[in-house]
Amino acid sequence: MSGNKKINFSSGPAALPPEVLQEASEAIINYNNTGLSILELQHRGKYFEAINDESRALVKELCGLSDDYEVLWLQGGGRLQFAMIPMNFLGEQESAGFIDSGFWAHNAAEYAAYYGNAVTLSSSEKDNHTHLPKWPATVPHDLSYLHFTTNNTIYGTQFPNVPKTNVPLIADMSSDIFSRKMEYRNCAMLYAVAQKNIGAAGVTLVAVNKHLLGNVKRKLPPMLDYSAHAKARSLLNTAPVFGVYTSLLTLRWIKQKGIDTIETESIKKAEILYKEIDRNSLFDCKIGKDDRSKMNVCFGSRDKATDTAFTEYCSVRGITGIDGHRYVGSFRVSLYNAIPLSAVETMVSVMQEFEHEYLKAR
Ligand code: PMP
Repeated sequence: MSGNKKINFSSGPAALPPEVLQEASEAIINYNNTGLSILELQHRGKYFEAINDESRALVKELCGLSDDYEVLWLQGGGRLQFAMIPMNFLGEQESAGFIDSGFWAHNAAEYAAYYGNAVTLSSSEKDNHTHLPKWPATVPHDLSYLHFTTNNTIYGTQFPNVPKTNVPLIADMSSDIFSRKMEYRNCAMLYAVAQKNIGAAGVTLVAVNKHLLGNVKRKLPPMLDYSAHAKARSLLNTAPVFGVYTSLLTLRWIKQKGIDTIETESIKKAEILYKEIDRNSLFDCKIGKDDRSKMNVCFGSRDKATDTAFTEYCSVRGITGIDGHRYVGSFRVSLYNAIPLSAVETMVSVMQEFEHEYLKAR
C-alpha cells in the first residue's frame, strides 16, 4: 500500500481492509493466474460462478442462516430495497409497520407508502433522533411486515439487538452488518448496502426467507421480483462481477478474523472515542449514552466556529471523511470493521492536541 494512505473515517464508501484492497488490485491485472482481469470475467463463466456461490454461502455462514434463506447480490443500493420490499410484500390495502429512527428508516416508510399503508409505530423525530425510538410494546398482528434500521448511519444510534416479532421482520443492516453477533435469524429479510462493512458501492446484499417469497403481492417484472432473482441464483442480469468479488474478499477477511473479535474491537474503538468526546471541552455528543452507535460516532463542537478548523486540523494530519451528514452537520467518525484501533487512538490524540492548541490560543 502506498505511503500516503489516509485514515479514512468516511461513512461510505468507506475504508476496506488493506488485504482486500491488495488482493482486489492484483485481481484487476490477473485474476487467480487465469491471465484475465477480474473486470473481464464473464458473469456466466465458471470463475464467477465460484465467486457467486462462495460469497452467498459465506453470508449464510456468518449470519447463521439456514437453507431457508436465499442470499442475493442486487444493484440499485439501499433505496431500491426501500421500493422492492413493499412492491413484493405489501398489498395496496395492506399495512406495513415502521420504526422511525431517522432519515433512512423514514425514507423506507415513504417508499412503502407508494404501494400500501406505511404505519409508523414509533419515532424519535420530536427529539431530533438523539435517542432510539422505543420498540413498540405490541405489534399489530395484521401488518404485512415490520421494518427497522439496526444502525442509523446519520444520527449515530444503534439498536442493541434484533427482537423476535409476531409479524415478518425486515431489517436494514447497511451500516452495522457483520460488526457484531446479531440475531440475524429473527429477520424474515435483511439487507445491507456493500459500501460500508462489505465491499465496494454497487452491490446490495439481501438475505430473504423463502416463506416470505411466497407472499408476493403483485405482478412484477423479474428485475423487481425477489423470487425471480432467487430462481436465477442472483444471475438474472449481468452481475456486478468486481463488486461481488470485492465482497467475497471482505467476507473471507471477516471469517478469518471472526465476528467475536470484530465485536470486541468495535466496542473498544467506540469506547475510547466517546470517552474523549465526553471529556474534551470542545466537543459534544448529544446521543443518549445507551443508544450510541459503535459504527457511526456523531458529535458536534461546542463552538460552531471550530467545525471547519477541526476538519482542517485533521486533514493536514492525514485524517479524512469526518464530516457529518449534510442534514446534521458537524462530525461523524465511522468505525467500520476495517478501521484499526490504532486509527482511533490517533484520532483521540489529534482531538487532545487540538483542544490544547485551541485553549492556548484563546
Ligand atoms: N440505509 C442505510 C442505513 C444507509 O446508511 C444508507 C446509505 N448510507 C442507505 C440505506 C441508502 O443506501 P444507498 O445510498 O445505496 O441507496
